[in-house]
Amino acid sequence: MPADGGGYRGNDDSDELNAYRFYSSMIVLGLGLFGFLISACSNGNIPGFDYVSIGLFFISCFFYASVFNNSGRTAALKGLRKGSCSGAIWKGESPYFRVGNYQTWYDTRATQYCISFYEKNFGSENAEKVKETMDRTPKIIWMNQKIWAAGGIACFVSSFFFYELVIPFFENSVMTDEAFNFVDNAVFYLPSVLALLFSVTGFILIKVRDNLLYKCASRIVNDNIAAEERMKTESIIASKLSKKWYYNRCPNCGAEASKALRSCTHCGASLEVMSFEDGISGAIHRISSAEEDQ
Ligand SMILES: [Zn+2]
Repeated sequence: MPADGGGYRGNDDSDELNAYRFYSSMIVLGLGLFGFLISACSNGNIPGFDYVSIGLFFISCFFYASVFNNSGRTAALKGLRKGSCSGAIWKGESPYFRVGNYQTWYDTRATQYCISFYEKNFGSENAEKVKETMDRTPKIIWMNQKIWAAGGIACFVSSFFFYELVIPFFENSVMTDEAFNFVDNAVFYLPSVLALLFSVTGFILIKVRDNLLYKCASRIVNDNIAAEERMKTESIIASKLSKKWYYNRCPNCGAEASKALRSCTHCGASLEVMSFEDGISGAIHRISSAEEDQ
């Protein structure tokens, strides 16, 4: 997406809207299911569920909700993996201790950042650096976060038959009552515990991501500031250098002049090139350094 006047997000609006829709429908779905399960549990019994496992699923919904609530901020990473660099990734809205420009910055007091890939001077370089960070760190961190929700939904669905399917294997095996009791519970709660683990994993990975991206942002910003300084210095030097050029051969007597000389040792004529226009084609000139000038 192109940079749109002043907005430092430049992110695909539809992406954000989709994330929002998904997020709210998840909540509605979760609450509906929760209500249904609670009432069904109190009426009779649904195979594979009790209040504890429903509670675990419910808690995991909160983690999933947080994961989806945050997914819009880093949606631009998806494009980065496919080789296109558009949009921006960010965390935080109004940083107080911002370093950098309004498109790419990091906050020195909090882990807030914004990295733009549409920036005029450094956009594609920024994208390259973020991609490097992604390549250097474990892939699991950058996986599509819908995977964790898909895992949770799979666990939830499997709850309906998992226990009935698995427990017969243990019923026929020889073990003490305590051991069987343990296995019985473990099998019963496994899907809900896994769902919770998936959701917590997704939740933690968001934090890990943000930490990595924050460090990446601070590196990018400092690099870009240094690069800008360098460009400024270079243009100052260039403007100084371009002021004075000297002949390597005296235009007056034709004597060879060494590099450091500004006037001819033979005739004393100045070696300075006053104008490039009149008849110096073929004449070799050189640059005086900025330090020599002072
Ligand atoms: Zn001379």
